[in-house]
Amino acid sequence: DITIGVLALQGAFREHVLAIEQSAGVKAVALRTREDFEQNKIDGLIIPGGESTTMAHIANRSGVMDILREFVASGKPVWGTCAGLIFLADKAQSAKIGGQALIGGLHVTVDRNHFGAQVHSFEVDISVPVLGEKPFHGVFIRAPAILETGEGVEILAKHIDQNGKEVVVAARQGSLLGCSFHPELTPDNRFHNLFVDMVAASL
Ligand code: GLN
Repeated sequence: DITIGVLALQGAFREHVLAIEQSAGVKAVALRTREDFEQNKIDGLIIPGGESTTMAHIANRSGVMDILREFVASGKPVWGTCAGLIFLADKAQSAKIGGQALIGGLHVTVDRNHFGAQVHSFEVDISVPVLGEKPFHGVFIRAPAILETGEGVEILAKHIDQNGKEVVVAARQGSLLGCSFHPELTPDNRFHNLFVDMVAASL
């Protein structure tokens, strides 16, 4: 059996646990503390959406930052959604909000709240060829965009922003997966299945 951990410091982790548990033979565990990480052997990790500055503060305070970095370095699959994508990025920029510690590993530069504030949250069907022909319903909530991609980063989806600029909204680099939107808030399980497949292939 496969066990996938969901980082549960803050944010939309319950929805990821529920979505993962739809996959046959896959268990999901919410992880918060060092002890949680020590007591549960996980094959993959999801870092949910929420607020990445807050998530980084709590991670530092609960002493899980080094565990997260070690997990990424181990080569086991990690998927960051929205704030989780920011947390997983090598670099984050932001016009209005302060900086924060990042886990890093995914060779991208993200722009926080790229599409605007809460009022500018939106839902849109986007083409994600790796998931098949049918578009994926993207729920963008104060979402980041990927502005630069580095070595080994495969672009999985793009979107045209409010300024007519094409930005990356989903990417993969080896065992790391990231997306700007919230697949756990839609009934479409294809993104979760993609991650489960990555985890299964890594065993
Ligand atoms: N804007 C948030 C941040 O910068 C991310 C929003 C989200 O995860 N829905 O952390």
